[in-house]
Amino acid sequence: MPNITVKDRMLEGEITWQWRTNPRGRAASDFAALSSLLVSCCLDHTTEDKWKWSKTSDGDFKVKVLASEIDDFTLASSSSNESTLRNNLIPKKVEIFVWRALKRRLPVRLELDKRGIDLHSVRCPLCDDDLESVEHTFILCKHALELWDRVFNWRNLGNFSNVTLQEIFAGNGPTSSSTFGKKIWQALVWTCAYLMWKNRNNLIFKGKGWNGPIALNEIQVKSFEWISQISKGKKFEWLMWLHNPSHYLSAT
Ligand SMILES: [Zn+2]
Repeated sequence: MPNITVKDRMLEGEITWQWRTNPRGRAASDFAALSSLLVSCCLDHTTEDKWKWSKTSDGDFKVKVLASEIDDFTLASSSSNESTLRNNLIPKKVEIFVWRALKRRLPVRLELDKRGIDLHSVRCPLCDDDLESVEHTFILCKHALELWDRVFNWRNLGNFSNVTLQEIFAGNGPTSSSTFGKKIWQALVWTCAYLMWKNRNNLIFKGKGWNGPIALNEIQVKSFEWISQISKGKKFEWLMWLHNPSHYLSAT
């Protein structure tokens, strides 16, 4: 009975438990802790006795708050890269995605195979040239390289060459020296990788992928949508983003 209250168990000042099976292990120690809290408990009719969730001010359980707690915990446990794995310009689901990519926890075929999952192929579903590792997916696959080139060449943002997964996700951008500009660049890079992954899944599970120009357009639109929504108080305009993204990359 998950919602039972203390009052329901307290008969004539005595707490009476009705176990179907006696608690054991972890449950037994939780029960011991609860019992010690209740030793000095005294209820009268004015005492409110109800379940409260300590994470919200009204005591109500909310899935959204729990999800946010789990996200924070996941990102906080990401050791030394913690600060470079936070970017408040894009949704948390993208931060989690980047964290999973760096920890090799994305279900690319090579990782699934290592975990004993039987697959008909462990090769890249996009190019079929090599094994599908996280590195291959994001920085070695010819399709990934072509897309990065498009993003970097979008109004002369520089060249994409010889970077590691850590470097690309750290968002060591091309030109900008401002902190805000670096965050924007990182948000753009993360959006690009996130959409690459989505495209890979669409190709596998729905049989339809994107092509180069459409891919770039999707990245431009999505990154604008996210950054403009979240960068409150900063002017962020679509036409400027489209034609002169460097303007924002050097913005303070
Ligand atoms: Zn490939």
